[in-house]
Amino acid sequence: MAGLTIRSVHKNYGDVPVIKGVDLDISHGEFVVFVGPSGCGKSTLLRMIAGLEDITDGTIVIGDRVVNDVEPRDRGVAMVFQSYALYPHMSVYDNVGFGLKLAGTPKDVRDAKIREAAKVLQMEHLLERKPAQLSGGQRQRVAIGRAIVRKPDVFLFDEPLSNLDAALRGDMRMELARLHKDLNATMIYVTHDQVEAMTLADKIVVLDGGVVQQVGSPLELYNKPANLFVAGFIGAPNMNLVEGKIAAIDAGVATLALGDTPVSVALDGSTTLKSNDTVTLGIRPHALVADPNGPLKGIVQLIEQLGNETVVRVKLSGGTEITAVLPGQSGHAVGAPITLAFDPSNAHLFDADQRRVN
Ligand code: ADP
Ligand code: MG
Repeated sequence: MAGLTIRSVHKNYGDVPVIKGVDLDISHGEFVVFVGPSGCGKSTLLRMIAGLEDITDGTIVIGDRVVNDVEPRDRGVAMVFQSYALYPHMSVYDNVGFGLKLAGTPKDVRDAKIREAAKVLQMEHLLERKPAQLSGGQRQRVAIGRAIVRKPDVFLFDEPLSNLDAALRGDMRMELARLHKDLNATMIYVTHDQVEAMTLADKIVVLDGGVVQQVGSPLELYNKPANLFVAGFIGAPNMNLVEGKIAAIDAGVATLALGDTPVSVALDGSTTLKSNDTVTLGIRPHALVADPNGPLKGIVQLIEQLGNETVVRVKLSGGTEITAVLPGQSGHAVGAPITLAFDPSNAHLFDADQRRVN
């Protein structure tokens, strides 16, 4: 087992920078998720850790060894891909043991490891089958089994659940969480799905455009997104963003004019925000409540009754559309006026540079 240290890591493809200076510390046993939109550099960063891509600049340390020039097979890592990459003509047993066989592991040792992995993954009854006789979830488990038998210090997963249907993804998510606990292994997991990131990670690394936007626990990112990108990316439905201007700042509290009712937000001590600056107020859909005395007045555009809650799309008098998720089965009607309120201590405020200021 081992932790990782990533220092000033860059990757260029030709003249095109794809990873633009990443610094990251990963502790032994941590479950770290790289999340971000398609093309932001998640796989590239993972593949550099695996040794499948050269590092243009910077250092990657696994355990206490710089691995920049170490061959992939000697790095103590095992990678699981989105495409399971199983050998169709081989049984599950042979697929799981193939890497060990290549490495010259004796037959009895190999057998013990294969059976142990099969037990951990609850697929002992599948060992004689061929990949074609397995479901998508079972194939993915075989791919994970192939990683487990190598007893890596670090597991690397690149969108391993993206080819599975939603219900199976939920099941496999729980299995991966259990596996992480059972193996006490360091795991780095790449996904574009913020729900996977929120549910699996000890630590989430949000990437955009080859730059780390924020590193933190799922709730740190949800409660205190560092910038507008993270605010918009983490949480479902997406955070509502309403532009406004600072009317006044007094004793570290900013007053915003939103319609008729002013909203006061306590600022972070270090901000240089001043009166008349343009800001963006972020409010999560679940933080809104219907309240005739609230500051946000608008007209209901759309209603989705989900039974346990009601999603209401509202066009504010200023023209901005926002989403409220109201508890229970709300009696609002499309076309009718609605007034919404929120607790300002749950609101998020961003300056013109898109940085959090509260
Ligand atoms: P992600 O996994 O986050 O979707 P990738 O790491 O695969 O993103 O890709 C990051 C960027 O690098 C993308 O713009 C992609 O087009 C580019 N890229 C990836 N691989 C190569 C390559 N072999 N040659 C040139 N550009 C590449
Ligand atoms: Mg990718």
